[in-house]
Order: sequence, then C-alpha cells, then structure tokens
Amino acid sequence: MNFLSEDQDDMQNTLTVRWTVIPVHAPQPVLACSTCASPRPFRSSDRLRLNANGKKLDAWLIYKCTQCDKTWNRPLFERRNIREIDPATLQALQSSDAQWARRHAFDLDALRRKTSRIEVFPECVVEKTMLGACAGEGNLEIVFSVPLPSQLRLDRLLASELAISRSRLQTLDVAGALHVQPTSKDALRRPVSHGSAVHIAVETLPDRDALMLAACGANTG
Ligand SMILES: [Zn+2]
Repeated sequence: MNFLSEDQDDMQNTLTVRWTVIPVHAPQPVLACSTCASPRPFRSSDRLRLNANGKKLDAWLIYKCTQCDKTWNRPLFERRNIREIDPATLQALQSSDAQWARRHAFDLDALRRKTSRIEVFPECVVEKTMLGACAGEGNLEIVFSVPLPSQLRLDRLLASELAISRSRLQTLDVAGALHVQPTSKDALRRPVSHGSAVHIAVETLPDRDALMLAACGANTG
C-alpha cells in the first residue's frame, strides 16, 4: 500500500533549481538635458552625494546624461532629520555604499514620481543553482530569486534559458503541464518576481533531458 500522497510523490519526483535573475541595467529616466538642449536618458552612477546642515541631511543619487555626462542629482532625502534615519541607512549613506545606491537606482516607483518617461531594460544575467534532485524526475521546479526588480517577462526568460519557444510554453500552460506560483492572470506575460516559481511536468516530453539540463545551467549546445 502506498502511503505517500500524490503531492509527496510529486516532490520526490522533482528536480528543483533556483534561478537568480539579476538585471544588467537600471532604469534610465528621460529628462531635459540643458547641455544637449534635448530630452535624454540619464544613467545612475550608483554614487551618492550628501549634504549635512546641522541636524538635517540631504542625500542624492547621482545620474549622468548618457550623451554628454551632465549630472542630475536625484533627491533621496531632502532636509531629513538625521535622528529619523535608521542607522543602517545612515551607514550606507556615509560609506557611499554602491549596492545600496544601486537598489535605489532600480526603484521604479520613486523614479516615476520624477518623470513619466523612463527607459527600462529587460536584459538579465541568470545564475542557476540545483537545490535538489532524485533519479527519474518527472517534474521540473524553477524557483526565482530576484534581488532587484526585473522588467523581464517570465515567458521570455523561460524561453531563452530553456531554449524553447514562447508558443510552446503557452501550449504547456493550456495543457496544464505548466504552473506558475503564485497564480495570477497572464502570469507568463508578467515580469518575473522574487519568490515565484514555475512547475513543469516534463515526464512525457520528448526533450525532457534537454530541458532538465538547460534548467540546471548545462550547455545543451
Ligand atoms: Zn546631455
């Protein structure tokens, strides 16, 4: 008698990999450049500028015009009381922490408050780590780690990394062989999000081995 539930059975039959998706370029606000005398995209330098005035602090993220290098200082804090800033943030500001600055460069909502025109770049680097596997896997599970917001659509990411077409993904989805978690309408067409996962039932697919290898990061030629 088999005491395993179907779910447990599935889990034992699953190859699980984590894809860490890192966008290559931060969003670029399009602003009027006085030197170019024209609207231009500005790129983040990931550098910070601070100005302390008594107990008040201003902090800016420095952007450069992509054509002429003219500077735009994007305000992060304006005349903020130093005591109201948490110690970790203050430390990041004072050490000009490039990683901290980069996280702010990807804060699309904050940028949208400055300009309605923003250029976004879907290109990502994908690092693949095998988390667990056992012999005879019939299911592939890809768990996504997305430390910085990505604009890359899930179907484009899967198609390029698994070397299959987006229409094939659609077919698998319609056939119930592909599930995205958490479930949402048009999940495949939305940007990949942190903590989401894709399950693909690969057992009966003719290219099962190639898909498994591609998911693990092996070069399938
Ligand atoms: Zn310019």
